[in-house]
Amino acid sequence: MTMNTQGRPSAPAETGTAVPQTFTGNKALMIEEALIFEIGDVKNCGVDIPEPPQVKDRLGKLKRKAPAGLPGLSEPETMRHYVKLSQKNYAIDMGLYPLGSCTMKHNPRLNEKMARLPGFGDIHPLQPVSSVQGALELIDMLAEWLMEMTGMAAVAMSPKAGAHGELCGMMAIKAALEARGEGDTRNVVLVPESAHGTNPATAALLGYSVKAIPARKDGTVDPADVKALLDDTVAGIMLTNPNTCGLFERDIIAIADAVHAAGAYFYCDGANFNAIVGKARPGDLGVDAMHINLHKTFSTPHGGGGPGAGPVVLSEALAPFAPLPYVTKTDDGFAVVEHEAEDPKSFGRLTAFHGQMGMFVRALAYMLSHGSDGLKKASEDAVLNANYVRARLADLMSLPFGNKPCMHEVLFDDSFLKDTGVTTLDFAKAMIDEGYHPMTMYFPLVVHGAMLIEPTESESKASLDLFIATMRDLVMDAKAGKTERFAGAPYYAPRRRLDETRAARSPRLSWTPPEPITDAAE
Ligand SMILES: *Cc1c(COP(=O)(O)O)cnc(C)c1O
Repeated sequence: MTMNTQGRPSAPAETGTAVPQTFTGNKALMIEEALIFEIGDVKNCGVDIPEPPQVKDRLGKLKRKAPAGLPGLSEPETMRHYVKLSQKNYAIDMGLYPLGSCTMKHNPRLNEKMARLPGFGDIHPLQPVSSVQGALELIDMLAEWLMEMTGMAAVAMSPKAGAHGELCGMMAIKAALEARGEGDTRNVVLVPESAHGTNPATAALLGYSVKAIPARKDGTVDPADVKALLDDTVAGIMLTNPNTCGLFERDIIAIADAVHAAGAYFYCDGANFNAIVGKARPGDLGVDAMHINLHKTFSTPHGGGGPGAGPVVLSEALAPFAPLPYVTKTDDGFAVVEHEAEDPKSFGRLTAFHGQMGMFVRALAYMLSHGSDGLKKASEDAVLNANYVRARLADLMSLPFGNKPCMHEVLFDDSFLKDTGVTTLDFAKAMIDEGYHPMTMYFPLVVHGAMLIEPTESESKASLDLFIATMRDLVMDAKAGKTERFAGAPYYAPRRRLDETRAARSPRLSWTPPEPITDAAE
């Protein structure tokens, strides 16, 4: 592959077939796009800016000697650039996006409409509280629903992602232990081997040492393994339920009881809450803190489409330690508790403001438009769809824990590819040629060559059938030794196999102009 001066592939890679190369490098609607600096001219400007007024120069030595070198594009050039870039990305609005654990489901347009209402979209967090009463009421209403659905005593709304929610929940646990005088002695957090990487990372960030809990043969956690690790140095456990193998931790209550008996707390990673909304309440399962990824369970955009939001529900025991700021109801309407003097038990300020307002609006719109029956149905359909995929692929692909019902996602492993000459990665790349985003690969780590498929409830049967038929076709070609379909894949993507390691280890993040800009600034 040849590289241009910026280290990017300069020509579309050979397809290895008889398809002729085009003059432009474009392939019909798959249009090449240069860097924004390369399409315009840094000397141009897309808008007419009036000459600045003559003012006394106070910049001294800081005054620029040359133009900043910003890209210079007309409005149509700008539009085309960003539209073309947006089309290079696979999106939930383009097709089935089976990325396990990520819950890539449809983002209803009603949510978008609500989030754009000027009363929500155009407000500022520093506005006087009296002028944003409606927005605070919305945050409060969403908080009420989250507590209702989870059966928990309180909720911290401000965390801005699942991982941030983990940090929030574990900081509340830390504060509770400190209040008990055990902040220094309890310094171990138990995390199952199947956990998402953010769990041990969160614990480590807070200075805890992490002890791994092995997975049972059936992919779940054995309370006996937890008990064996519990002592008075353990601060808590971080457990995902349903877990990352797509299985419900059926001994969760026994685990919670054992953790509490040892004086520790139970953090639940709630990223998979979408499988149990309306069916089971974490509060009834002994959970002390759990984040809810609004961008997964409650359909707000993610994966380049928008910021996340990770409110954390808290048990009675942890509620007093919730972070600032938070919204409270008073006789005069809604108020915001901002300062530690107002709430000395709080572990302090977690974020500048109240959280992701736009995501709150979208999540509440999703909840209210579904109603309690609709939310329960969404969970049921998510589980049904995953089991449909499992049942229809079980004869050809391999299931590490046997062909048993799963929750909202189904975990396959790559043993069905053994001796075919096709690797797990090749298989995923061939899915790209078929127009699918691959499933989650090599996660969870407890399963060798994991392939985690989460279809979500927003796929129709027809869409699932086409996906299943595609997967069957790929598996049969792999088993028939037709390795060429896989070894060079993707054949039809704008770029093929990139050097991902080099891209991650030595990314080129700056652009060097082809010739120095010599015009001095006026
Ligand atoms: C997505 C996910 C997280 C992290 O959530 P973010 O919102 O991406 O920070 C944590 N645990 C599990 C199991 C997840 O699927």
